[in-house]
This record gives sequence, structure tokens and C-alpha cells, in this order.
Amino acid sequence: MTDAQLLLAVLVGLYLVECVSWLPRGVVIARPGPLGGTEFEGTAGAPAFGARAAAWTPPWRPDRGLFVTQPWPVCFSPQGVVPCAAAAFNPGPRAEGRARFVSWSDLAPVAAREGDLFAGGERLVRVGSHALAARLAALAGELRALAGQAPETEFRERVDRALDAALDDARARARALQFEEQTQSLRVLAIALFLFLFAVVPAVAWVRGLAASWAPLLLGLIALMGATAWELRRAHRVLFPGAASQRWRPVLTAALSPVSALRAIDVLAHDAFGDAHPAALAAALLPASRADEQLRAWLREACFPAEPALPADGDGAAAACVAWQRERERAALERRLAGEGPAKRPSREPGVVAWCPRCLADYTAAAVRCSDCGVEVVAAEG
Ligand SMILES: [Zn+2]
Repeated sequence: MTDAQLLLAVLVGLYLVECVSWLPRGVVIARPGPLGGTEFEGTAGAPAFGARAAAWTPPWRPDRGLFVTQPWPVCFSPQGVVPCAAAAFNPGPRAEGRARFVSWSDLAPVAAREGDLFAGGERLVRVGSHALAARLAALAGELRALAGQAPETEFRERVDRALDAALDDARARARALQFEEQTQSLRVLAIALFLFLFAVVPAVAWVRGLAASWAPLLLGLIALMGATAWELRRAHRVLFPGAASQRWRPVLTAALSPVSALRAIDVLAHDAFGDAHPAALAAALLPASRADEQLRAWLREACFPAEPALPADGDGAAAACVAWQRERERAALERRLAGEGPAKRPSREPGVVAWCPRCLADYTAAAVRCSDCGVEVVAAEG
């Protein structure tokens, strides 16, 4: 292997590593499909390392980033909070986790830090999104003031308003449009850098030799990386105006590392929709019929939650809190669907004896529970 081949192999290896994102377990990703379009996927079943799950982006799409959203990773009720999500991506399992109920009177003031929620000095829950953590911390502050002081209807209305805002597809669509506009130059630069590194450099090195051509190639690389870092800084300022402290590190990394510059779009994409519900992001990115399917899948999850529906070591108070939050999410999803329930699916396939009301999987042999969701199956009619 020549020096140029070795260099290229190292570069490809580093780039493939950069295409993997480590995210909190249980978030939902919207990634560019291998042949265009967008795929939605829950990370609860993805390969995990500790509290983080691995999600990959197609390496041949340096112009498209990975969007990350999630249902609220914390349950509220008039009595207190449970630091776990009430909902899980459907189809798919629920991320396993342990969570205990904390009453409002025992809960230290909640604050957003490093993209997570902290109560006092301790991490309450991993969020992985600065936007969502800030929104939930503010909401927790308001709910704490209401809990025990205001009537329960007022508490419920405040949660409902926040859920409606997260499910607002007009807001998500406007954000998607802004994201497309602001990342236009960055996407062109990403494709240019990709072609430069994986086509131009190997071709020139092969024809003329690396020793004879390294200086102009290096100049070209520096120019492309510099322009990417500049453009990343500009777009970040527009898309995340209040996040100056989170800006310098990715900008500096893009200026110094070619593989980080190649995936600069991910820096902007990851949290662009952080505080939107996954169903709102689906409405912004998918055709209407597929977005509607996603919305109904979330509603089915709220009605028939995947097992275990409660966090490990949760007691009766935790169960009541998760059930309260799940009920509010179900009501919010129904408002979005204008009162329609999760449509019952008539079985058409011959031999189907039962089906899962959550993931809609068919069962041809006698089964009591869905093998994927753990939900009790429903006997097929007719
Ligand atoms: Zn199922």
C-alpha cells in the first residue's frame, strides 16, 4: 500500500466513524433515506453503549443531516414528576430505564444544563437537546408554582398548551423551511468537500503523485474547510441565536478536521427540531399520508403502550404520574387528529387470527401478546 492509499484509507475510516451519532436512548431520528426521502426510527432498539445509542447517517449524503426529536423524556402530574418518557416510538420497543417518582415538594429547582435536565446539582434526566431541555425546565418551573396552589384544571391546561406547541406542525414546517434556506451554502460546500477528498485528491495523487501535488491540494482543502467553518458559524447564529456558548467548539472543529467539516450539517440538524414532537417533525418532512400514519402510530402507543409500560422500580405514585402524562399526550394527539381514534384495522389476510393494536402486526398462530410490543393482541374479526 502506498502512502496515498494509506492516507485515503485512514480518511475513509475516520469519516465513517464521524457518520455515527451517539444519542440518548429512546430518542427518535429522522435520517436521509439511502435513495432520498426521510426515514423515521426510534433508537430504543439501536446498538447502545451505556446510556447512549448509536445512529448512523448514510456516508454518501454529506449534504443531509440527522434530525433528532423525542416525546418528552419526563412525565409530569399535579403530584410530581417521573424522569422517564411516557411514550415510545411505534413500531419499536421502549428504552429500558429506571425512574422513581419525585413529589413537587421534594424536587429541587429544575434547570437545563449541557442539554439535559438537572434538579439541584444532579442530573434528573438525559435529554440530549438544548432546545427541549430549556423548554422543559421552564415548564417545570411554572408547574411547580401551580402544583398544590392552583386548581388541577389549570395545571392540566398548562401541560396541554405545552404539548400542543410541541405538536404544532405549522411551526415545524416553518422551521424546516428556515433550515433549508440557512443550510443551502453549507450543503453545497459539503458536497464539494466530499468530492474533493474522495475523488479529486485520489485522482491527482494517482496521476501526479502525492509528493508533487500536495501543496495545491492542501491549499484547496484549507479553503474548503475554512469556508465550511465560516458558513457553519453564520447558519448557527441564525438558527440558534441564543446558543453562542455552544457555537465555537463545532466551528473550530470544522476548521481543523476535514471529517468534521464533512458532517458540519449534523451540528445544525441534530437540535433544529429538538423541542418538536416527532409527529410534528414527520408532518414537516413527510408526505401527508405518511405523516398521518406517524401521528396514528403515536396515538396507538398512547392507548396501548409497549411493555414495560412503567419504569423499573416505579411504585404506585410513579404509575399514576406516568398514566396522567400518557393521558395528556393521548388527548393532545387526538386534538391533532380532530377526535379520530386509532382506526381499527380490519384483517384481510387469510389465516390471520389476531393482531397487535399497537404495531398492527398480524398473528396467524394463537398468541396472547405481541412479540415486539408485549401488548395483548386482539382477535381478528370475521
Ligand atoms: Zn405489536
